[in-house]
Amino acid sequence: MGAYNIAARFVLARVLDALRGTSTIRCLAELERTQWWSREQLLELQSRRLRMLLQYAYERVPFYRQAFDDRGLTHADINTASDLSALPVLNRRDVRRHSAELQATGFPGRRSLVARTSGSTGEPLTFCTTLEDRYSRGYARSLRALGWSGFRLGDSSVRLVEQRESCARRVAVTADITARLQRETLFDVYDMSGARVERLVVALERHNPALLRGYPSAVYLLALHIRRRGGSRFRPRSVVTEGEPLYCHQREVIADVFGCRPFSKYSSHEVLDIACECPAGSGFHVAAENVIVEVLDDEDQPVPPGTVGRIVVTNLHNYCMPFIRYELGDIGAMVEEQCACGRGLPLLRGLEGRRCDIIVTADGREIPGAALVFGYLAQLGIEQFQIVQERTDAVKLRLVLNACCDAECVGRTVSSVKSRYESILGPSMRVEIELAPEIAAMSRGKRAVVVSRLNEWESLP
Ligand SMILES: [Zn+2]
Repeated sequence: MGAYNIAARFVLARVLDALRGTSTIRCLAELERTQWWSREQLLELQSRRLRMLLQYAYERVPFYRQAFDDRGLTHADINTASDLSALPVLNRRDVRRHSAELQATGFPGRRSLVARTSGSTGEPLTFCTTLEDRYSRGYARSLRALGWSGFRLGDSSVRLVEQRESCARRVAVTADITARLQRETLFDVYDMSGARVERLVVALERHNPALLRGYPSAVYLLALHIRRRGGSRFRPRSVVTEGEPLYCHQREVIADVFGCRPFSKYSSHEVLDIACECPAGSGFHVAAENVIVEVLDDEDQPVPPGTVGRIVVTNLHNYCMPFIRYELGDIGAMVEEQCACGRGLPLLRGLEGRRCDIIVTADGREIPGAALVFGYLAQLGIEQFQIVQERTDAVKLRLVLNACCDAECVGRTVSSVKSRYESILGPSMRVEIELAPEIAAMSRGKRAVVVSRLNEWESLP
């Protein structure tokens, strides 16, 4: 660890914590310790936190009080994660419809935050969370996961992401200080044209950031560009992908071009980091101190270890709007074995998320699908959407609108969405809107959110 890393962790990050009233560094130190605990110790900690959350939800959250009452239960009937199957699965539609009843009564406004999903599942959502959940627990989980890839707080990094939407001032200021602490440079993935990516490669060679981070499809496009130009001197210490599944063909090219193995993180906007690939390569370690992952069959019943099913997640730290047994639309399998790395954290394998292909514009830009889905769609009353490219000069947007949307609202929504996508995709692309009653899921509830039919052979799985 270099001098800047030490200053970043022990001075800068603590100042940031003090300024915003959070405890990221204390939580990170705790997570770095507990990852080596035995499975039994971890489950004991998890169960203790679950009981606290359920008691709170029973007493303060109308939606859960009703759910307990309907089943003739109280919080005292559920002691561990294995008892959770007595409670209902919560999906995005439930959160939208019961948004008010899911919020805890009397939660202090100054400790709460309004957040939005990026919509990367095709079902955008506005929800509430807390400073503690986001900036203490969530950010600490992210830092621990990045640490597994070799990243240290204070290292420089480059992140391939979409142009950010504006957010509340409090969050924007904090994000700005955090970015300085992380020495993070953002590269907008809306324009990954050859000339612009080449300028990025030249900058990467000059500055040599320690961490390359972003959507797998964006990192993959960068790697393909470098391969076409005959290589580069850029050698990051870590490559971390997030927001989409990292497919095998992408993993191979990325490892070959950058000379280091990519680490895939499993996260969602609602819960933040859930699991990250183990350095020993045996699967994804679930951050079991903060989240519970269950794998269910089509009847909402837990499946045995090793069996693939629908993933539902319980976040143990969002006391403003508890997400208990929340369905993310991903599939995977929990495995029981003890990992060779020595961590007691449970292992998740066979993880498959929503399909987000790359969209190619007629003027030659390649745009990662995950960068084309926006949280603001939730505010427009859009419950589900899908982007499909079947022609080189057009994309089709399928929208499922809220049933309460009247004719005027439909017209306004369609024109707002159309103009937003036309401005991003540029004049070479036509944007067609199709209203649909529903968008069918692929197998086991998986969603195909951004689909390119131009190169089906490359769109896996
Ligand atoms: Zn491990």
